Amino acid sequence: MWDIQLFKLNFDDLEVKAVSDVVAGGWLSMGEKIISFEESFGDFLGDGAHCKAVANGTAALHMALLALEVGRGDEVIIPSLTFVADVNVVNLVGAKPILADATSLSDWNMSLESIEKQITERTKAVIVVHYAGYPCRDIVAISQLCRDRGIGLIEDVAHAPGAKIAGKVCGTFGDIGCFSFFSNKNLSIGEGGMVSTLDPEINMKLGYLRSHGMTTLTLDRHKGRAITYDVAQPGLNYRMDEMRAAIGLVQLDKLPAANVRRGELTDRYRSNLHDSSVLVPFSKQASNLQSVYHILPVLLPKGADRVAVIGALKENRIQSSIHYPPFWDFSSYKDQFSPDDSPITAEICNRQLTLPLFPTMTDGEVDQVTEALLEALR
Ligand SMILES: *Cc1c(COP(=O)(O)O)cnc(C)c1O
Repeated sequence: MWDIQLFKLNFDDLEVKAVSDVVAGGWLSMGEKIISFEESFGDFLGDGAHCKAVANGTAALHMALLALEVGRGDEVIIPSLTFVADVNVVNLVGAKPILADATSLSDWNMSLESIEKQITERTKAVIVVHYAGYPCRDIVAISQLCRDRGIGLIEDVAHAPGAKIAGKVCGTFGDIGCFSFFSNKNLSIGEGGMVSTLDPEINMKLGYLRSHGMTTLTLDRHKGRAITYDVAQPGLNYRMDEMRAAIGLVQLDKLPAANVRRGELTDRYRSNLHDSSVLVPFSKQASNLQSVYHILPVLLPKGADRVAVIGALKENRIQSSIHYPPFWDFSSYKDQFSPDDSPITAEICNRQLTLPLFPTMTDGEVDQVTEALLEALR
């Protein structure tokens, strides 16, 4: 179907062996691979971060809201430009999502000001997304603001595992970091996620939320360390299994080099599109911000026919996508939100296009994509 897909897995025999070793070992869930994946991910984040592997990124976000006791009557500020999971989980815990607009047409993350504008006495939490792998430039100031006002801060790090600001890793600035390891993320497992926190008390709550509120694991009882369990609080089953944790460990090893390669490919896209009518956002990032280049978003020129451009790329067997269709275009949210309240996001959503980017992509493939795009726009 496609010569150049939007995304390709960075898998080889190592992932196959990791899974088959677990299956041969005969222990399938919450065993040594989970412990090892969580410890390694904690080391990767630094700052003594505690990590819990979970079923997926949405589960991580849901647990984060529950751990911060967000519920009915509360407001949660989220970016207007993000995946629908953020708005879904806020609604599902009974709170009201309040949208903060993107900073500008070249910086698509939320800004301190866009958040400040939306704070009320009901604001219980803020969810910051590091869009496309680019760290939210104001995260340090946002974290200070939240601390001063007693507001919870959740980082949705689904796009940005390993992104840094002045050497500090995204996911460690707020109360809780939420990662996704869905197939097309920088660290791919299929379905999977991680919650992280520097706070031991929140970490304990997250542990209960992940596994029925239970105080011991099946593994503890298997090893003879416990006979029964107590239930400390209501909880869910958002656990990850050992096969996934084993793949996660292999992918975590590959992540730093894969992120570097994504950066090289992004630089090539930028130089190919420099001096064209196509704008690549986040081109003027401060030197202390380290992106992990999750996707390659561009802004098409005003008035360009996006459907025709996607069609022309498809004729060249090149896949493209849109990150994201705005909430107000969804049946479920058209009455809750309006483009008039998030004008910058509205314009981005109308003109945005995502081009292929994955660590095994070649320089020649980048050139093919940019040539086809520029030809389509002529
Ligand atoms: C992928 C993604 C999620 C959800 O993660 P899943 O693992 O698919 O549940 C949440 N937020 C953002 C920004 C994402 O890109």
